[in-house]
Amino acid sequence: MTVLVVGSVNADLTVRAERIPAPGETVLGGDATVSPGGKGANQAVAAALAGARVALCGAVGGDAFREAALRGLTRAGVGLDHLHTLDAPTGLALITVSPEGENAITVASGANAHVMSAHLPEGWEGFTHLLLQGELPPEVTCEAARRAHAAGLTVVLNAAPAREPDPDLLAHTDHLIVNEHELAALAGGGGDVEEAARSLLELGPQAVTVTLGAEGSLTVTPEAPHRLPAYPVPPVDTTGAGDTFCGVLVAWLSSGRPLPEALSAATVAAALACTRPGAQDAMPDLAEIRAALA
Ligand code: ADP
Repeated sequence: MTVLVVGSVNADLTVRAERIPAPGETVLGGDATVSPGGKGANQAVAAALAGARVALCGAVGGDAFREAALRGLTRAGVGLDHLHTLDAPTGLALITVSPEGENAITVASGANAHVMSAHLPEGWEGFTHLLLQGELPPEVTCEAARRAHAAGLTVVLNAAPAREPDPDLLAHTDHLIVNEHELAALAGGGGDVEEAARSLLELGPQAVTVTLGAEGSLTVTPEAPHRLPAYPVPPVDTTGAGDTFCGVLVAWLSSGRPLPEALSAATVAAALACTRPGAQDAMPDLAEIRAALA
């Protein structure tokens, strides 16, 4: 294994309804679908499908949603030796989608909220890259970054969902990936994106990538900024685009490719994930990414 993801695992329970219910209201929806989700699991699957050897450290419960939560990880061949089964429900995201494509999401963190530093791997041998998000208890994410950094791994943090900056975590982050909302939460909103991203370089990371949806991405390093337009596709469902971007970026970096090449692969892969519905089910494999890059 070369990439370790320490992150969340959920089952996503999605219902398409005539509208998002108002407080106190009940609306009728179509059939519910149960699909695998959670930013940690999504990014692990994206990286594994892109050809990296990936392990996931996190937790699920022993309940009925466990299988649904693990389906994509198992199919993509993600190593689950560091996945713990806890005496808590599997994380569950309740998603209501309106005909306009708006959604309302309630996340029951379940087992994800019970992950502790004691669940982190004892050693980091064999891993070159650690990929983190913000859906586990912050102290666990920070401890993982601290230990991995000390062991010489490259630490990539997707600081999602948006929250206040944690200086200790950023100090142990090599590459930070955020969308515009998360950038605003970390660096303050309103200003120029490049300036805001550059201000985060002073907190520890050597690279900061801001994903800009259909506008592509901007990466700042101590050198010149790297702007990359989105790969043009007719978008069907952009769920999981950001997770695909992060997973594939790290997969490429872990195979020794330079940052600009990794950013191109991540951009192509994230766009391909927008052409199909769902998150993990929509992610491209290595052959599809290569074909689109050629
Ligand atoms: P998040 O889902 O985390 O908010 P973004 O919406 O910024 O992240 O999307 C992540 C990446 O996915 C973008 O940088 C871009 O490369 C790609 N992407 C997102 N939306 C589209 C789209 N409509 N067409 C092509 N690529 C897209």
